[in-house]
Amino acid sequence: MTQIRVRMAPSPTGLLHMGTARTALFNILFAESQKGDFVLRVEDTDRTRSTKESEQNILRGLDWLGLMNNIEGIQTDGSEKGDFGPYRQTERLDRYNTYVEKLLESGAAYYCYMNEEELNQERAEQEAAGLPPRYTGKHRNLTENQKAEYEAEGRKPVIRFRVPENRILTYTDMIRGEISQDLSLIGDFVIIKSDGQPLYNIANVIDDNEMNISHVIRGEDHVPNTPKQILLYEALGLEIPKFGHMSLILNTDRSKMSKRSTDAADIFWLKEQGYLPEAIINMMALLGWNPGDGTTQEFFSLDQLKQLFKIERAHKAGAVFDIERLDYFNTHYIKQKSVQQLTDLCIPFLLKAGNIEQNRDEFVNPFTRETLDISTIETVVGHLQTKISKLKDITKEVNYVFRPEHEYRTELFLNEKMGITEESAKETLQWVSGVISNIQDMSYQGIKDTLVQEIKGAGYKNGQILWPLRYALTGEQFSMGAIEMIEILGKDQSIEKINKAIRFLSN
Ligand code: GLU
Repeated sequence: MTQIRVRMAPSPTGLLHMGTARTALFNILFAESQKGDFVLRVEDTDRTRSTKESEQNILRGLDWLGLMNNIEGIQTDGSEKGDFGPYRQTERLDRYNTYVEKLLESGAAYYCYMNEEELNQERAEQEAAGLPPRYTGKHRNLTENQKAEYEAEGRKPVIRFRVPENRILTYTDMIRGEISQDLSLIGDFVIIKSDGQPLYNIANVIDDNEMNISHVIRGEDHVPNTPKQILLYEALGLEIPKFGHMSLILNTDRSKMSKRSTDAADIFWLKEQGYLPEAIINMMALLGWNPGDGTTQEFFSLDQLKQLFKIERAHKAGAVFDIERLDYFNTHYIKQKSVQQLTDLCIPFLLKAGNIEQNRDEFVNPFTRETLDISTIETVVGHLQTKISKLKDITKEVNYVFRPEHEYRTELFLNEKMGITEESAKETLQWVSGVISNIQDMSYQGIKDTLVQEIKGAGYKNGQILWPLRYALTGEQFSMGAIEMIEILGKDQSIEKINKAIRFLSN
């Protein structure tokens, strides 16, 4: 069997779109399942729209997702690896000429001198006649004299490919089955612009051929290009790769997912919200694929996917992206982290939100400027691990934790059902402050055991004590529990806060 080689060929013209990332993922999974190679090539021939910044974005994004390991072609740092380079189209421009010469010689391609105005007029006439717009082939058979006249006028020609009129082109798509295209509906398409630059279809075909690409797996939006590319392969006498077109990613209202319709289309936006790469990979794999066999398994690591993936299980129906499902996966992968790992992941978010600050290699409480031990931050993160669905959520929760002063509201200390009044709250806070000062073991369990035992011993109900205590320590209507807060704050700060609350209630 010939070596299986697939590629992803992004155009660096914008952000790393989820569709692009999923194309990379499916290609990598297919390559792995076939013991094949995955190549990353950059299609940067559109010089007005391509930017280095976008290329770097795409590379960094794919790397963050874990999709740049051991690949051929462009590497994360922009360097190249592999025997089929260069892997940037702009560095391959001189290669295309020989192929185009061949097409011109055989008559499969020709010079077209029509200018914008003439083409617009042709289009307007077709529209007026209710016909779909397409190039009608006016310059298909120019004589040498006619060409010379146009040249003398200073017109710069494009090169068009001569599309056969009476043919239905059919190919078998790995995902969508048989696809047919009536070629009479396709006009002769431009392969070389008037400035000599190759366009996507020709460059893509030549590069895929020169890089020995055996299978082209890409988005459904490229289905209209495939017949044109097959015609080019045929005209050049080159072997045609197999094609597989993945379903589009849709929003929940079934509109096409785009950066304009949702921020979530941008992988870096997802990163900024604190979605984990594992969650995004898991979710993307299930956008248009499932393992079959009646399995109900939902969570798949990249390594598991590499074992299980079969292209035949890719669906052709549109794949709906639902951010709630991504939240579900993310919650799962957040829970899987050790507290240390999760803390490391959360720290950039805490710093960015100003919840904590950094002073050389120390973290500081931005309100008090006191040093914050990493263990304190870990305790905070540990208590919130099961309460967040994305890393950024932690910044909302943490804001009150490091705040030494709170703007209390009397009614939030009270609870009619538990019989807590202003007077009783003051009393119980005073009492519990004494209990806290005597706790020996300041671990979560130690604090809990002492409090529960003392509360019981004194004949109180848990709520009577913990309700006002939690509010005294957090100043928030909704927050983590009192015991967690005591563990984070330690004895002195907890007692200090309780005293402030008592003073507030006494005024
Ligand atoms: N440069 C094209 C794109 O980004 C590649 C399409 C293909 O895979 O053939 O859509």
